[in-house]
Amino acid sequence: MIPQASEATPDSVERAPKATRPGLRQQLIIATAAGAVLLAAAGLWLLQQRTAAETLARKNPTALAFEHAPQQWLAQPREASEFERALQARDVAAVGVDGALVLYTDRSGRQFSTRLVDGGARLGELSVAQGFALTDIDVDARTGGQRLSQGLEKTASVAGPLLGLLLLVGVLMHFQLRGSLGQRTRLAEKPKTGFDDVIGADEAKKALKRIAAFMKDPKQYAALGAKAPRGVLLDGPPGTGKTLLARALAGECGASFISVDGSYFSSMFYGAGIGKVKELFKRAREAAPCIIFIDEIDGLGRRSNGKDAPGGGEQEQNRIINRLLVEMDGFAALENVVVIGATNHIDNIDEAMRRPGRFDMIVRTSLPTAPEREKLFALYLGRVKATAGIDLASIARTASGMSPADIANCVNRAASYAAEAGDAWVTQERVYQSLETHQLGGEVSNTKDLITPETLRRVACHESGHALVAHVLEAGSVERVSIEPRGPALGVTYVARAHEEPLYGERELRSRLAMMLAGREAELIAFGNASSGAADDLKRASELATNMIGSMGFGKTFGLLSMAGVPRELIGPDVQKSLLDEARALLESAQAECRRVLEDQRDRLDALTELLLREENVSGVPLKRVLAGE
Ligand code: ADP
Repeated sequence: MIPQASEATPDSVERAPKATRPGLRQQLIIATAAGAVLLAAAGLWLLQQRTAAETLARKNPTALAFEHAPQQWLAQPREASEFERALQARDVAAVGVDGALVLYTDRSGRQFSTRLVDGGARLGELSVAQGFALTDIDVDARTGGQRLSQGLEKTASVAGPLLGLLLLVGVLMHFQLRGSLGQRTRLAEKPKTGFDDVIGADEAKKALKRIAAFMKDPKQYAALGAKAPRGVLLDGPPGTGKTLLARALAGECGASFISVDGSYFSSMFYGAGIGKVKELFKRAREAAPCIIFIDEIDGLGRRSNGKDAPGGGEQEQNRIINRLLVEMDGFAALENVVVIGATNHIDNIDEAMRRPGRFDMIVRTSLPTAPEREKLFALYLGRVKATAGIDLASIARTASGMSPADIANCVNRAASYAAEAGDAWVTQERVYQSLETHQLGGEVSNTKDLITPETLRRVACHESGHALVAHVLEAGSVERVSIEPRGPALGVTYVARAHEEPLYGERELRSRLAMMLAGREAELIAFGNASSGAADDLKRASELATNMIGSMGFGKTFGLLSMAGVPRELIGPDVQKSLLDEARALLESAQAECRRVLEDQRDRLDALTELLLREENVSGVPLKRVLAGE
């Protein structure tokens, strides 16, 4: 039975109280950058002042008089001819020359300016002859407006790059702040998840419950001298609930939950990764009791000797790991922060990380068993609008090898299929379709439109052969047969083992061999010839047969000798030939057995073929009836 459809309640996310206040580190960065810019500007200004003072000290008084207020001369421009006349009349008292520009004062003190085409080359002689003062000057002949606009241009050209730099620093700091604030608000949560939300994973739950007990009452443990747990490594295939378990642990003891992944610490800025580690632990201590969850910790977990690290990236990595370990070593007795690292590659974790007081507890998660898969389907189908009466046990058997995350996705995809088709409910058929998409690696392919009726009949007969032999020889429970092409397969028969025993008996293996060959055999019986469709079946059957003879001790030639344990150089062509001959004989005996079944049950083979051609997919009661010959 499927529980009523219900809404999944998301975990509440509590923001950390200090989430919007920039950290000391950011404030320091801003202050340092602003200080550096101010210092640079002040230095430039002082330099300019000093140069100006030195230049002035070397000027003569006449030049200084001209340069002090050149506007008084410039405001009275005269033609060059007038200046010539004044010279000829010996009416000039002082002359200042700046290139072609000439400022002059006549003997009655009037001030004029003019421009000379020859640059006043003769003025030296004349000044000696006439006794007027002649000096080189350096004046700015521009009008006020010109000066202002050109000044602005100059400022822009000098200050532009500086401003650009300032802007860049500002933008970077803005994003740094925003980034880190974003991370902060994402960081601290108080999950509502508990261990009851985690299906299966009993061993892991048991281990984590001990940590939960400690975190709830650290004083009691400390009083007895028990050491606080510091680090846990959760090791298991993806999607087996490592994150969920860590959240459940936090939820169980009302602890905060901070989640990052191994790559969080890597940064393009040298040294920033270490800062992130420090910051992370600081935040965790503030939020204690707290779980720090580091997903894919193997991304940071192996130190190198640094020999082959010219870029310094690996050294940075080592420093990050060291910092992490220093932080963990520095936990005070009652600090109540536990670090949980998740990985699917425990071998990649540095030995130093696994020492006592660090990640010294390893908790393993594994793929769910059939009963656990059934509960998972019940849980996730309970969260969508599913029809009642879905055969959860059959679906769970068919979903062998799937992780809880795969199952959650599978149900979600089934609901999407139903929505796309405009259905009001998620049916068992939709769940099967979704399962097939997962297991065969694709949606129903376009090949469907290209398949001729003859080929379709051949596929139906082939799959019926597998199903019938599996049923009669009890190779497993036949859950579903489909002739809709998906991924590389034109059709598929799901045969689940009734139990998930780790061991296979010889009888079961022989039945499986017969089942694998049954598709081709059914084609031979129905059409008088076989097709390439059996290539994959033959490959898998050959693998199994050679293993049975060469490694499992089911052959006569080798007896108890396993090829896996015999040195390669001792396996000559004669040994290989004997192995292949016996494996082939095994296949032929399986073929004979399967032919016998198919010929005996020809009517059931044909009935299933016809049913498949009509329905495309057959499962549940109709399938069981045909197989039982009812
Ligand atoms: P991992 O961290 O091992 O890759 P997750 O914890 O992220 O796996 O699991 C992904 C999703 O799969 C979870 O959000 C949850 O929906 C589902 N899931 C995984 N394990 C379980 C479980 N044991 N019980 C219920 N749901 C699970």
